[in-house]
Amino acid sequence: MNPVFADIPTSVFEVMSILARETGAINLGQGFPDDPGPEDVRRKAAEAVIEGWNQYPPMMGIPELRQAIAAHYRHWQGIELDWQSEVMVTSGATEALAGALMALIRPGDEVVLFQPMYDAYLPLVLRAGGVPKFVKLSPPHWTFTAEMLAEAFSPKTRVVLLNNPLNPAAAVYGPDQLGLLAEFCIAHDAIALCDEVWEHVVFDGLRHVSMLSIRGMRERTVKIGSAGKIFSLTGWKVGLVCAAPALMRVLAKAHQFITFTTPPNLQAAVAYGLGKDDSYFEGMRAGMARSRDRFAKGLVERGFSVLPGHGTYFLTVDIAPLGLDDDVAFCKRLVNEFGVAAIPVSAFYAEDPVTTTVRFCFAKRDEVLDGALERLEKAAR
Ligand code: PMP
Ligand code: GLN
Repeated sequence: MNPVFADIPTSVFEVMSILARETGAINLGQGFPDDPGPEDVRRKAAEAVIEGWNQYPPMMGIPELRQAIAAHYRHWQGIELDWQSEVMVTSGATEALAGALMALIRPGDEVVLFQPMYDAYLPLVLRAGGVPKFVKLSPPHWTFTAEMLAEAFSPKTRVVLLNNPLNPAAAVYGPDQLGLLAEFCIAHDAIALCDEVWEHVVFDGLRHVSMLSIRGMRERTVKIGSAGKIFSLTGWKVGLVCAAPALMRVLAKAHQFITFTTPPNLQAAVAYGLGKDDSYFEGMRAGMARSRDRFAKGLVERGFSVLPGHGTYFLTVDIAPLGLDDDVAFCKRLVNEFGVAAIPVSAFYAEDPVTTTVRFCFAKRDEVLDGALERLEKAAR
């Protein structure tokens, strides 16, 4: 068997969700909202499956969705995209990442990865023959400097994989950090593979800035989005890929032999959803920010140290002030003895992990968050 997959454990998200089900714990581990997602978008998907075309849609995605993606990013991020040569639909951001890594990496190419990193990245890079070069980010701000990038980049760097906003740390990188990374990409002729699935889930008055809009990056960026995150429908797996034509031509070749296409009813519903009024997107953000603030306040009142975070469904807690230094042990006790599932952030590091940070998903109903807080109070004591 291929050692990349033979030798790795099951994803921490699956492990924690199974533990939560078995123990009856409140699941603040795997990131999915309680909110069922906008009803009009779900109805559109239902209508399309009954009334619409259910055979293979076009390989690049249905035209109405590709047009809607281009219009959506023009409106929200000021990016001009030609929907026919620069936009593709995949079965989730995960497929887009896998395909892009297969398409962009030649065996032996170096890939710069920021830790903490989403757990799919490293196995996919290794399976594609890439050689990982890590940049270690640390709490509380998870920023990177020119010195850190200079250590990771080399003449062999082919791709840098950036997740912005960053899961699990909830950091949001703006024009300055992106500009710094862009300088390194340009100097090393590297491609920025940008996982921007959390682009709409940003708070505190911040606006997402795409790497595609950074000077000099238009021709060397692959931007990946996910309808699952935009519409609180994480099971939908509709990925949105944008890149200049020369890159897209090759990304499409990988996509055609991974899934080839994505369920047409979901594509039709996402096309409709992307055109919704600004108030939907702003309302989603405001609701998420409210949940974050409610949960953060409750944690602080119970003696937990909450780290700053400005996006995603997650907030992180520093357990060092509690005299603890093992996030995995903390999460195991929390789920088994106190009935709350969370995610140890060390699971997002391949080497030299930060071991004092724990991630909680706050995208839940008030009662669920309050129930978890009661249990966390006992744990804190
Ligand atoms: N990248 C990141 C950073 C994520 O957090 C997730 C899912 N939570 C994904 C990719 C996967 O997205 P999808 O479900 O669209 O495959
Ligand atoms: N992205 C989700 C999270 O970070 C998990 C997705 C998955 O389970 N693979 O919680």
